[in-house]
Amino acid sequence: MDIKYNLETIKSQITSEVQLVAVSKTKPVEAILDAYHAGQRIFGENKAQEMAEKYNVLPKDIQWHFIGHLQTNKVKYIAPFVSLIHSIDSFKLLAYINKEAEKNNRVIDCLLQFYIATEESKFGFDLQEAETMLDSSEYTLMKNIRLAGVMGMATYTDNLDLIKSEFKQLKTYFDILKQTYFKNDSQFKEISMGMSGDYLQAIEEGSTLVRIGSSIFGERNYIK
Ligand SMILES: *Cc1c(COP(=O)(O)O)cnc(C)c1O
Repeated sequence: MDIKYNLETIKSQITSEVQLVAVSKTKPVEAILDAYHAGQRIFGENKAQEMAEKYNVLPKDIQWHFIGHLQTNKVKYIAPFVSLIHSIDSFKLLAYINKEAEKNNRVIDCLLQFYIATEESKFGFDLQEAETMLDSSEYTLMKNIRLAGVMGMATYTDNLDLIKSEFKQLKTYFDILKQTYFKNDSQFKEISMGMSGDYLQAIEEGSTLVRIGSSIFGERNYIK
């Protein structure tokens, strides 16, 4: 795997307004350092302890993005340093993050994960659940989190029309929330969508953050 070459290839395909999250889950620190030395600074992980271990040994100018389902009892491992949590899938989780961020004297940027896929297994809000949360006084009182946009995962399929319609749906959710709740908030601007198999479609539909793993680091091997 030529990580530097892969990064350059992807970078040449995405516009400068789109940020690249290099998804390094399951990959060793050596692979992350290869990407780091090729200029990459944003890395995505989906396990809290794995991310904390990597944070401890790697350069401190790396921005760590959490991208997977986050259990409330794991928030404490990443709260001191995480720069963006893409995967807020419940009000309860957001409240926990607010609490842990406060302990660390930080404001943690978060994205609301929306359920856009046709599969049963994906996490996330629907529009009404998100609106109910944003309308609540409990949300208004949270001072240590900042919502910076939305995130979604398309159905795992070869059907590009289906994937595109799901990305369109996420963009629509973003537009509605922006108009209704974040009109004067310039920080609410991110649409995190697109992975190795579908990032070009995601960018066409308005993605600002693509999360790419295997096209940079190679296939993941989960058998230890
Ligand atoms: C693993 C993962 C990715 C990257 O997937 P690839 O297909 O390897 O690019 C992106 N987003 C999330 C939420 C992931 O869990």
